[in-house]
Amino acid sequence: MPEPLLTRYLGQPGREEIDAYLATGGYRALARALRERTPDEIVAMVEASGLRGRGGAGFPTGRKWKLTPKRDGETRYLVVNADEGEPGTFKDRTLIEGDPHQIIEGMVITAYANQVHQAYIYLRGEFFLGHRRLSRALAEAYARGYVGRNILGSGFDLEIVIHRGAGAYICGEETALLESLEGRRGFPRLKPPYYPAVRGLYDRPTVLNNAETMAHIPHIVALGPEAYKSYGPPILYSVSGHVTRPGVKELPIGTPLREIIFEHAGGPRAGRSVKAVFPGGSSSAILTAEHLDTPADFESLQKLGSMLGSSAIIVLDDTTCIPAVIRRTVEFYRDESCGKCTPCREGTVWLSQILDRILCGRGRREDLDLLDSIARNMTGTCFCPLGESVPPSLRASLRYFRDEYAHHIEAGACDVAGGPHR
Ligand code: SF4
Repeated sequence: MPEPLLTRYLGQPGREEIDAYLATGGYRALARALRERTPDEIVAMVEASGLRGRGGAGFPTGRKWKLTPKRDGETRYLVVNADEGEPGTFKDRTLIEGDPHQIIEGMVITAYANQVHQAYIYLRGEFFLGHRRLSRALAEAYARGYVGRNILGSGFDLEIVIHRGAGAYICGEETALLESLEGRRGFPRLKPPYYPAVRGLYDRPTVLNNAETMAHIPHIVALGPEAYKSYGPPILYSVSGHVTRPGVKELPIGTPLREIIFEHAGGPRAGRSVKAVFPGGSSSAILTAEHLDTPADFESLQKLGSMLGSSAIIVLDDTTCIPAVIRRTVEFYRDESCGKCTPCREGTVWLSQILDRILCGRGRREDLDLLDSIARNMTGTCFCPLGESVPPSLRASLRYFRDEYAHHIEAGACDVAGGPHR
């Protein structure tokens, strides 16, 4: 198992301060990038590293950077999405609170590679500690000349602004985030034409990356793409739910779910067994204990009709009522729906109403087909990924745990909880 790269120093007292970061080689990659590499060379290194965005979509980072037009004199922006709100996901917050300079250094290198002079970090509003530490780290980086004008005497300028969100899940969607950053309500934009790479913040080309993605960049530059890849390449899994050692686990991408859950997260509580897993946050299709030997990577999970998403692994043991968990996730998306499009706004309400009656012991035999039909009709018809997040786990639960739903309808009670859910 390779040494951790991104989380090696997490938990060290004072790690969030610049002197601790510098003492372990911090900002050396930036100095080398500015002194020894052209912007195009850094883009090529990131592309060769195979790094894929860690925000959920998994788009290759180097390719994304190449898509951003770099016409002389045209204003471009860098926006870092730190509005981490997917249920089960807490890796970005862990990095922001525990090692904020790593993200700032990644941002300055990214800005240099893309010839951007103005950057923003869109930080989730509830990250109070993260905001305090990131703000302090940014002030330190300005004071030591790693951000601001003429960085390390290179002639390269970059201003970074931290913008706090107001706690809306939809603002984690890239175009809604840009709307919010511009001071409007967080409604998603139509794609095309509003692909951020070409028409992003203030209608200008915008490099939009996730916070964890930024933390990988200094390591790619410091080690070179091939040595970086020998670490896995690494990914941060947020493991939560019914495990004895939950937390952020830095592992090679593609580590099997079983190994992550049992070896690195301690497995379920004594006497309990794994019943189901969300492998990529609550937006991913739920899997069962039979899928535990699947590598947790983009392709393998996609083959199962699920996804890696934000790499948040939520483990559910055999004390869990699956229809109740699905109702809770549907309620989350119902409450977070921005209301712009009908399939998501109405569909999530209908689904939660039907799940309510099933769980309260008043379900009808035809309800299972009705749930599936609504979820099917939401698929591909929602305006943005939020609405599309609802059908996968619901439909997978109907496929793998249909008997549990049927038991609620026929017995009017839950065979796990012992009675109806109120
Ligand atoms: Fe809004 Fe939901 Fe439609 Fe997205 S899918 S635009 S969140 S209503």
